[in-house]
Order: sequence, then structure tokens, then C-alpha cells
Amino acid sequence: ATPMSLMVGVGKAAEQGIIIRRGEALQTAASLDTIVLDKTGTITEGMPTVNHIECLGAEWDADTLLGIVAALEQGSEHSLAKAVIQAAQTKHIVLPDAEVPTIVPGQGLLGRASSHHWAIGNNGLMKAQQVDMPETVEKTMTSMASEGMTVVMVACDRQLVGLMGIADPIKADSAAAISRLQSMGLNVVMLTGDNRRTAEAVAKSVGIQQVLAEVMPDEKGGQIRELQAQGHRVGMVGDGINDAPALAGAEVGFAIGTGTDVAIESADMTLMRGSLHGVPDAITVAKATLRNIY
Ligand code: ADP
Ligand code: MG
Repeated sequence: ATPMSLMVGVGKAAEQGIIIRRGEALQTAASLDTIVLDKTGTITEGMPTVNHIECLGAEWDADTLLGIVAALEQGSEHSLAKAVIQAAQTKHIVLPDAEVPTIVPGQGLLGRASSHHWAIGNNGLMKAQQVDMPETVEKTMTSMASEGMTVVMVACDRQLVGLMGIADPIKADSAAAISRLQSMGLNVVMLTGDNRRTAEAVAKSVGIQQVLAEVMPDEKGGQIRELQAQGHRVGMVGDGINDAPALAGAEVGFAIGTGTDVAIESADMTLMRGSLHGVPDAITVAKATLRNIY
């Protein structure tokens, strides 16, 4: 396409709430064959809420646990942390004193509160902390995850004492946008740090077959390179700091407009409406531009 027609295309895209950093990105967008979608905040709202708290053993009740976990999560920027703090606030729970926790990226956090040592996070963190996982607990976790919930495990002095089921609603139009991409012949893949079972439940409800789950924050870019090595031309869609290297490494990076500044700075296009429909819209504009329709 000529610089002039690209400029016109950039203008057309802007009318649809798609901000394009460089005109060439429009040309590249027409040639994509694979779209990789981050889960949290991209397919889902990114506003998770605590749906369920399960206490294991008699020592800690649900409100006390919620207060302790919220106190420690104040040291985290994660969207799960926000959900827990919000839940404690809603129930007017007074938070105990807690030390600044040690953040374990992609797994959770560790810290002291109420004279005990706490590990709060996923299976990987529990394994690393050598927390015992009774079989009955695995069943509860499996059923929560099958409903698309993220299960946050809570261990006190290396004993599992609670489970929190945290759900992040799927954006109302994610499934429709994904179906549009698929009918345009694009291969759609989900990429997430979350648990495999949770990820697969969400993927199923939006019609995605290929799921890359339990990917550590610093591995997201590597997963994009892997797809490129298989010969794919990849568009990556994300909202988080974690997504920045993947957005930068993809042929075209699409940032969700409501996402973090780092994601927006790393992307070629920003979807101001926050909806995934921006991706098929951008590709449609790109193809029309190359055919010189405008
Ligand atoms: P994502 O945001 O895609 O879920 P992350 O790599 O940030 O990916 O996190 C992966 C997993 O690690 C989360 O799904 C959660 O199970 C656990 N985790 C991360 N941070 C926290 C936290 N602050 N509190 C509890 N669990 C956490
Ligand atoms: Mg995200």
C-alpha cells in the first residue's frame, strides 16, 4: 500500500476507536494468521470478585482468613489482590497488621501476619513451599476451576487452611468477537498464567480450542516466538505489564485501551473501546486498505 492509502486506513481505523501508532502496522495486520489473546482483562473484564471461601480445619474462620489474606495482598498489584481487598472491605473486616509480602511472580506471595507465616497463591507456590495437598481438597479445587474460577490457596505455617474461588466475568462480546476472527480464517489461541483447568473452562465458553496455560510472566514473549518459529504470523492482544514483551514481539501488538500504560506503549495498535471486536475491525480495515478500497 502507498503511504497515502495507509494514512487513509489509519484514519478509518481511528473512526472505529482503533489508534494505530505506525501506518505499516496496518499493512502487517492484513497478513496475520494467528491471534493470541491474553485471558485476564482481555477476554475477561479484569475485575475479579471473591465468590467462595472454603475453610479447611477449625482454626480459622472465613472472615479472619479473608482479613489476613487482604492485609498481605495490599502489597500486591495483581487483580486477584484487588478482588480480595475489595471483598474484605465489603464485609467491613478490619485488616490485621501484616508485613510487606514477598511477591512470587506468576505464583502469589509470602509474608507474616497475625504471628504466622502465610503462603497465598497457586499450586506451584504450594509445591515450592512444600504444603501438603489433601485429596479431598483437590476435588473442591477441580470443581471451582471447572467453573472458570481461579482458586487461590491459603497456607498458614505450611498447612493448607483455606481456598478462595475468584471469578472474573467474561466480557459480554468476547465470544462474538472471537467467532468473527475464526470466520475470517484466523487461528485463535489463549495465553495465560492461570491454572490450566480454569483457562480451559473460560476458553470453552468463548469458543477457543488452543490454550497455552500456566505460562510464567517472563515466558509470554517466548510463546509468541515459538508460534512464529512454526511459521505463523502472530497478532497478540493484551492489557497487562506481563503482556508487554509478547505485544512487542508479535507481528502486530494490540493493547486493550483500558489496560496498563506499559502494554499500550509496547503495542502497535490500541483498542480504545476495550472490546475484542477491535481486532477483527482492525484487520478488516487493513485488508480494505491493501485493496485500495478507500
Ligand atoms: P494471570 O494474570 O494471567 O493470571 P500471573 O502470571 O499474573 O497470570 O499469575 C498466575 C497465577 O499466579 C494466578 O492465576 C494466581 O493463581 C497466582 N497469583 C499471582 N499473583 C497472585 C496474588 N497476588 N495472590 C494470589 N495468587 C496470585
Ligand atoms: Mg491480562
